[in-house]
Formats: sequence, structure tokens, C-alpha cells
Amino acid sequence: MIQSVNPIPAFDIKQQYTTIEADVSAAVLEVLASGRYIGGPLVAGFEKQFADYHGVTECVACNSGTDALFLALRALEIGAGDEVITTPFTFVATAEVISAVGAKPVFVDIDATTFNLDLSQVAAAITPKTKAIIPVHLFGQPVDMTALMAIAQSHNLAVIEDCAQSTGASWDGKKVGSIGHIGCFSFYPTKNLGACGDGGAITTNDPAIAAQVRILKEHGQRNRYEYEDIGVNSRLDAIQAVILSIKLRYLDDWNQQRQAIASYYHQFLSQVAGITAPQELAGGVSVWNQYTIRISSEGRNGSSATFRESVRSQLQQRGVNSMVYYPYPLHLQPVYQDLGYQPGQLPIAEQACHEVLSLPMFPELTRQQQDQVIYALKDSLG
Ligand SMILES: *Cc1c(COP(=O)(O)O)cnc(C)c1O
Repeated sequence: MIQSVNPIPAFDIKQQYTTIEADVSAAVLEVLASGRYIGGPLVAGFEKQFADYHGVTECVACNSGTDALFLALRALEIGAGDEVITTPFTFVATAEVISAVGAKPVFVDIDATTFNLDLSQVAAAITPKTKAIIPVHLFGQPVDMTALMAIAQSHNLAVIEDCAQSTGASWDGKKVGSIGHIGCFSFYPTKNLGACGDGGAITTNDPAIAAQVRILKEHGQRNRYEYEDIGVNSRLDAIQAVILSIKLRYLDDWNQQRQAIASYYHQFLSQVAGITAPQELAGGVSVWNQYTIRISSEGRNGSSATFRESVRSQLQQRGVNSMVYYPYPLHLQPVYQDLGYQPGQLPIAEQACHEVLSLPMFPELTRQQQDQVIYALKDSLG
């Protein structure tokens, strides 16, 4: 007899909350009773824990991952007339902040296997105006930071790591966010370390950068009511800080559960015709914010994007929800039309946008659900 099964969401953050509910409720009620809602010892405490976790000396919390990237660029005094190299296959925030500080994003194509910046193409994109590179550790998979830092150092460029999807991932034994000049993190609820609202942080070993970010995130204020820069208001609330402190204790366990799910998926999906399973680079440890396969229509009628949509809707009919991260590359977005990129110019990223499909991935996904995903996918490819 066929058992009816509940639909599997692409991610589920409610379930995780039940495991920490008692701790979180008590801590949040304490904050409410304390009357210290902004700044204070709980935010400072979380900053210290997050710095220690990464083996860096400095962490400054802020309001979002987007703000973390923006503040990093501002602290490095990157602005009008400058160029910053990044990937077109990422969430829009990565490039948006480059434009927001008045600099120009320069998009370099990605590697077909890792979905991350193709490092062999970075050097050719460097000009006298280039000031920094923003590598994105996409879907939790670290960029080859050894190779990237070598390129950056030989051209005297700053490296701002976009770690929004990769909290806890490591390259060559070092946590991402501790290797470049600045690491930028998001605590958006669906990230590996997620708050119950918005939140973000920068990490660095440079006290001058941390001090400058602290000034910029508080309206450019160095001493009380004395403003030396045009800043912003970007603070982490005490309630979010205390929740993040509790969740940080579980992060490694949750990431290990994601890794176990990824290797189970890999075992059954890596040999399936018509799809390409994601692979970890030797030297890196991914934390699998997403498990993203490629679906190709090669040998079938119609485009990959159309085929992917049909697989996606068949998966849904079989009770499996999936997501497309990302359907459009940033260099071809309407907002970046003035940069003059043409379709076909960054072909690997463009192809990825037509082929990617992210399967359900969250630490609490059961083995039975993982099996359901695998069977449903095989059937849907049929
Ligand atoms: C989520 C995300 C951001 C932005 O973080 P927010 O906290 O949502 O502002 C930046 N870059 C990448 C790659 C992301 O996934």
C-alpha cells in the first residue's frame, strides 16, 4: 500500500526552534525585563563568541548581511572611481553594496563545478581602478582562498569574503571569514546561523577596520554627538544577540547534520543520468546552506530552463518542494544594464541560471524525507 506523506518543504526553520525553545524563551524574556534592547553586554558577548568561533580578534555586529558588506566597503574607503570584482551568480546584495558606495561591480564568470568565482579569470579583470575582490562562498561551499589570496596579494587588493551562506565552512582548516581582510555574515533566518529577524556581522583581525565599522554603523559617531563620517544606523538588537548566542552553540552540530544529508544525497544522485550533483572541492569543508543540483535538457527537446521547470513541478506533485537560486545572473539584470554586459558574455553563470535546482536541505530533514526526495527526483526525470 502506498502511504500518503506530508509535503517536504525546501527549508523549515520552525522545527529547529522547538529544540531550543525553552532556552530562547527564557533568554528573550530576560532581555525584555532588562530594558536594554539595543547594544549592551549581550551584543558585546555575542560579538566576542563569534570572533572566538572564527579565531579572529574582532567582530562587529550590525543589522544585516547587506549592511555588513556595505560597512566593509566603506571602512576600506572604496567608492566612486573604484572597481570591485565579484561573481554574477549570487544574491543581489553582494553587488548592490558595491554600487551603493559609488563603486563599479566587475563581474567575472563562475566555475561550473563549484558555482563560485572562476579564479583563473580574476587576474584578467584587474585594472588600475580595482580595489577589492568579493568572493562569495555560495551555498556554503568555500572558495579556494589560498589561490584567491595569492591573486589579491600580488595586486595589493583587499578581500571581503561574503560568508552569508557559509557560517562555519572552512578552507584549509581555517574558517571562512577569517582568511580575507574582512568577513561578512548574514543572520537572516534561513542562513546556517539564523536570527529571529535581521542581523549581520563583520569579522576581521584588523582593529582599525573594526573601529571604523563601529563608527560607521553608529551614524559616523566617534565620540558622543561628534560625527566624522556619513554613517548609517545598523545595530543588532539585544534580543537577536541572545538568540544567536544560544544558536551558535548548536551550529557545528547543525552543520554536521547538513553534511550527512549532503553525502546521503550524493550517494544516490551522483550517478543519475541527466543531473549533476554538487561536489566539494578538496581542501574545503562546505556547510551546505543549499544542496544545488544541475538539470540539463541535453538529448531532450526544449531548453534546460523549461525542462527544469517541469521537473520542479513534478517534484512538487510528489510532495517535494525545491527552489531556484538563482534564475537570473546579476550582469544581465535591468539594474545593471548601464554596465553594458551582453547575453553570452559570462556563459557559465548564465547556463547555471537555467539549470540549477536546490533540493530540500535543513538539519532536521529525516532519512525518510531524504529518501522521498531522491525517489521523487528520479521519477520526475523519467
Ligand atoms: C543573504 C545574503 C546576503 C544578504 O544578507 P541579508 O542579511 O539578507 O542582508 C548577502 N550575500 C549573500 C550571498 C546572501 O545569501
